[in-house]
Amino acid sequence: MLDKVVIANRGEIALRILRACHALGIRTVAVHSTIDRNLKHVAMADESVCIGPAPSQQSYLDMASIIAAAEVTDAQAIHPGYGFLSENADFAERVEQSGFVFIGPKADTIRLMGDKVEAIKAMKAAGVPCVPGSGGPLGEDAAENVRIAREIGYPVIVKAAGGGGGRGMRVVQTEAALVNAIATTKQEAKAAFGNDMVYMEKFLENPRHVEIQVLADGQGHAIHLGERDCSMQRRHQKVVEEAPAPGITPEMREEIGRVCVEACIRIGYRGAGTFEFLFEDGRFYFIEMNTRIQVEHPVTEMVTGIDLIREQLMIAAGRPLSIRQEDVVLRGHAIECRINAEDPDSFLPSPGLIQHFHAPGGPGVRVDSHVYEGYRVPANYDSMIGKLIVHGADREQAICRMRVALSEMVIDGIKTNIPLQQRILADGGFEEGGRNIHYLEKRLAERKDKALSIL
Ligand code: ADP
Repeated sequence: MLDKVVIANRGEIALRILRACHALGIRTVAVHSTIDRNLKHVAMADESVCIGPAPSQQSYLDMASIIAAAEVTDAQAIHPGYGFLSENADFAERVEQSGFVFIGPKADTIRLMGDKVEAIKAMKAAGVPCVPGSGGPLGEDAAENVRIAREIGYPVIVKAAGGGGGRGMRVVQTEAALVNAIATTKQEAKAAFGNDMVYMEKFLENPRHVEIQVLADGQGHAIHLGERDCSMQRRHQKVVEEAPAPGITPEMREEIGRVCVEACIRIGYRGAGTFEFLFEDGRFYFIEMNTRIQVEHPVTEMVTGIDLIREQLMIAAGRPLSIRQEDVVLRGHAIECRINAEDPDSFLPSPGLIQHFHAPGGPGVRVDSHVYEGYRVPANYDSMIGKLIVHGADREQAICRMRVALSEMVIDGIKTNIPLQQRILADGGFEEGGRNIHYLEKRLAERKDKALSIL
């Protein structure tokens, strides 16, 4: 087993990783910026190393400092969490070249999935259903691009190969707008990602976001852990996630899961990963693979009883996967609400001192958060300060438990999105389930228009 792990992240996920390490008897090293000295996991870690000032560029994104921290503490492995350097192939490579284990896939796999054009090609070849599209980068020939778009059928979406975080894409409704839209997206992609390669896909108008969790040991074994529905989004950011996805039958799950497992084996995947799909009219369309643990992983843990971070650590230690596909049984329903330090109406970040904090409890309630009374939320990082997760025997019970849990939760001193989450949990459309990725934004816009007290 691994002996000592550096946690190259902050906030709730750093604490989550620390807990999984300690449960396995693995010692931990917290690396943190100057402003993050008071983080909960820093106090709980066996050792801690300050790696730089508050700006991420000089701390959590500083590869050399993190690797140096592993060296001076004599650690064996580095867990990147999510965000920051978690999907940076160069970092994974440097970690391994320096003689440490990178807790994630091989650098080449991360690189492959980071290039969306190449990722789609690889997935297509592995039999994963993709959105109908150009199948490769768009060239300079305008007439050829017009022909490709006609063949796909309007509306189409032009996307940057190097894009991420919901940026670098443009929907095109008509042929008249196509050539300009390609040129503008290319310019933007060049400026934002240093790579002007773009490709084209059919724009799906009312899809849901349904993703498949996988685990693979890089030794020829892979399993899937079912799906999550993450359709409640604002500006491409997930707000509420759940497992299983309403309306997905065991047959559909088994089929798409099998395809993902086969793709993992084919590309030699190692670690935890997620295949993200758009789901429309009963069909799955691959959009991208995330080669890391995701924010919403707890809903899968709650319905499968499998600790995903523990499995990441076991795989990193070189153990073959010990869970067989038939051991994965989904029980009940789980929902996660992201808790953000932000104004629930304007969505402006609301950093500051937490004066009172009270976590909800009771059967099936889980709080993954690093905050506590007297903790000051810094303005330097993402506004997510925790996740409230509930499990119930079925979706209805999970919703009821989440409503109670949200009403119990107290975070005073800063604004949070708890009131927004309460409105979502009270919404009829959410209660019915299976709403598409535009639903939340539409409801928010209606509320603004009519100044209604609903959602
Ligand atoms: P990123 O890496 O920036 O998150 P994705 O390819 O995952 O990019 O797409 C982000 C979001 O953009 C999707 O969740 C979806 O809302 C929208 N999107 C992307 N491709 C399509 C498409 N072909 N049709 C409709 N919506 C799309």
